[in-house]
Amino acid sequence: ERIITREIREEDMEIETSLRPKTVDEYIGQDKAKEKLKIFIEAARRRKEALDHVLLYGPPGLGKTTLANIIANEMNVDIRITSGPAIERPGDLAAILTNLAENDVLFIDEIHRLNRSVEEVLYPAMEDYALDIIIGKGPSARSIRLDLSKFTLIGATTRAGLLTSPLRDRFGVMCRLELYDDESLKEIVERSAKILNIDMEEKGAIEIARRSRGTPRIANRLLKRVRDYAQVVEDGIITESVAKKALELLEVDELGLDSTDKKMITTIIEKFGGGPVGLDTLAASTGEESNTIEDVYEPYLLQLGFLNRTPRGRVVTKNCYDYFGIKYEED
Ligand code: ADP
Repeated sequence: ERIITREIREEDMEIETSLRPKTVDEYIGQDKAKEKLKIFIEAARRRKEALDHVLLYGPPGLGKTTLANIIANEMNVDIRITSGPAIERPGDLAAILTNLAENDVLFIDEIHRLNRSVEEVLYPAMEDYALDIIIGKGPSARSIRLDLSKFTLIGATTRAGLLTSPLRDRFGVMCRLELYDDESLKEIVERSAKILNIDMEEKGAIEIARRSRGTPRIANRLLKRVRDYAQVVEDGIITESVAKKALELLEVDELGLDSTDKKMITTIIEKFGGGPVGLDTLAASTGEESNTIEDVYEPYLLQLGFLNRTPRGRVVTKNCYDYFGIKYEED
């Protein structure tokens, strides 16, 4: 059972809702994004207008959905949550749009997965708050324009480059979410432990934070698993050594790397002499999807400085060889 995944899992559901921060101030880290959003929110509030459309992008589990909820909360408006693949036909989107109240937020997760015909309905909606509806068929068909309430679209995606450029151009605010540093993750783990009534020492939190690969969702997952271990095998308190033992059992190493990371790295080293190797070749030789590699595994390995992206493909760095105790040979 994997800890690192693309998707939200059943087990996250109950906990994600209870752990989600509700205000900008409760939202830990991401200072650049927060600062930017605070200003835009304040300006929109003063003008009593809808906030400009916002695109949030970055790897899964970094807090895009959370931030969308916070924005709606700070704007004091309702939020409607959906996702690209859930909106199948233009009519589905039209139904959602016509039901929004003035200044409401519409959150579309995985917005890059909207199909073309749906996306085209979104353009005039975003730009002019209007829907163009075709009535009738053949030569007598005509188009009428329906006004919508002013609303804020918040789109989320893993990479901004996945959006078509006409869609991307219609967002007034672009916010990139970054992997969290250990200090922020420690705060997140401590906050979650408090909410869940988990007994934890500071060093236990540091240990979990360090192995969470910059991702709050993973930090919360690890916290839950470590809690289980602490309650069943130990006396319930998460100390440094309890956290270490539990995480070892989960096969999450000191940097948060799991068996898939190791498989990727060793494949590049053993089969491709350390690289460069193209993403699709790497995917085929490891049996992972290239999307998952690019969105979930790679960002953290890049951040660690274990992997480099070059025009010819992925290359394993000397640091990475050293970490895994493999001899590095220049060329
Ligand atoms: P995404 O939409 O980017 O996949 P989510 O918004 O669903 O990520 O966040 C996953 C979980 O991580 C949330 O349930 C929340 O508990 C936690 N989380 C995310 N960002 C933060 C943060 N900045 N501070 C505290 N908890 C966070």
